[in-house]
Amino acid sequence: MMEMKHAAEVYALTFYIHHRGDELSRQLAESFRQQAEQKGLRWCAEEPDIVVSIGGDGTLLQAFHTYFNKVDHVAFVGVHTGHLGFYADWKPHEIELLIDCMASHPKPDPHSIVEYPIVEITAESDDGSETFYALNEVTLKGIETTFVAQLNINDEKFEMFRGDGICISSPSGSTAYNKALGGAMIHPSLEAVQIAEIASINNRIYRTLGSSIVLPKHHHCDIYPEEGKRLLLSIDHIYKEYPKLRGLSVRVADVKVKFVRYRPFPFWNRVRDAFIGNESN
Ligand code: NAD
Repeated sequence: MMEMKHAAEVYALTFYIHHRGDELSRQLAESFRQQAEQKGLRWCAEEPDIVVSIGGDGTLLQAFHTYFNKVDHVAFVGVHTGHLGFYADWKPHEIELLIDCMASHPKPDPHSIVEYPIVEITAESDDGSETFYALNEVTLKGIETTFVAQLNINDEKFEMFRGDGICISSPSGSTAYNKALGGAMIHPSLEAVQIAEIASINNRIYRTLGSSIVLPKHHHCDIYPEEGKRLLLSIDHIYKEYPKLRGLSVRVADVKVKFVRYRPFPFWNRVRDAFIGNESN
């Protein structure tokens, strides 16, 4: 009787798999589940300790948004079935090793978790206010006309922006869209958000800073778009039209996203491997 009670108390790590839906990712997900259950891990879609994303960075973004309401206790790990991802850094042939790591850490402990800052935005519209969280970035763009908006930093007017739009990225998202805009790569240990311009208009009449800026955690930026314009808001891979947006308030979120890190893969090595290649030349 005592032995049975003891056995019942042994905690089995719970996991869920979110995959991209293509044949390779689907097969890998099936094989992952079988092997993981054989090693004592427990499948649980409602309250997983770990969400395994199989696909690419886009798949991990989807997993993040699906499980955002449990962001305080769920940790993510990504397996890539295409090219090396920033979030999806385990290779398909390494899933046995990943399962062994999960099985040998019955509860994700602080040593196997890294936490990254995310972006918080609050959108005020005629219909009320809504708060969203982005793992990579938020963008705001005009739909039919040039995007015109006043940017305030810490409640003081900073500039009047005219152009295609504004991109606000997290440190781990700085290597995504923000990079294509000429923004800096920010190490995810820095609690910051980066505001980058998307094709600003700069001439004798209109002037913006022209460089991206990095805000620390205790600062915020408010964006007040010209009234009556159709606007497109993106939150990572999710796009929504905001016809009656009055303002957007942007800051570093109080919550962070957790990733399981069973082996070191320093951020700068990921940047090098993804954008430069690690061949010595
Ligand atoms: P997608 O699948 O086309 O992904 C776009 C690319 O971005 C992929 O190669 C992916 O690996 C890469 N990526 C995603 N997150 C990254 C990160 N943090 N660091 C480095 N690379 C990263 O599109 P999706 O699945 O809809 O993904 C949405 C993401 O696409 C957005 O969050 C945005 O960052 C990115 N995006 C980039 C551009 C651009 O670079 N011009 C334009 C639009 C969107």
